[in-house]
Amino acid sequence: MNGPGADARGRHTENCMHEDGTTEAGSLRSLALGARDAAYAPYSGFRVGACLEAADGRYFVGCNVENASYPVTMCAERVALGAAVAAGARQFRRIFLCTDADAPVAPCGMCRQALAELSPELEVESESGSGDRASWKLSDLLPERFALLRPVSGSVRGDTR
Ligand SMILES: [Zn+2]
Repeated sequence: MNGPGADARGRHTENCMHEDGTTEAGSLRSLALGARDAAYAPYSGFRVGACLEAADGRYFVGCNVENASYPVTMCAERVALGAAVAAGARQFRRIFLCTDADAPVAPCGMCRQALAELSPELEVESESGSGDRASWKLSDLLPERFALLRPVSGSVRGDTR
């Protein structure tokens, strides 16, 4: 439904049918699709896959993991972020999201804050179930993120920034 260019909400959009699958985003997309297919979403039926690209070129995937106690549910973006941080990655270039939704979906507010902690300028790409895409800069999605002036001493041990 979105053609190339930008829609009324300022999102930069493109349709993946224009892609030949060999673009830079190709493998990010396929990993995100695989994660989406693995999502555990028996309650909402809303499956999300994410692939987070670290600054060092590594990819980390996540999917949503729902729970009978609904607030326990984890979003795909934060599952990918946790895997990345556990592997030592602290800076990220972009994240690719795939859902079954009718239109590309942006990360929820909690995930925006979580991702902005380490990479406020992250590129966010999202693909709908029909292949429509939208992209944003995280700082546009969350222009006034919450940030402490200075992390508490010791909390950044191992930080490679
Ligand atoms: Zn989320």
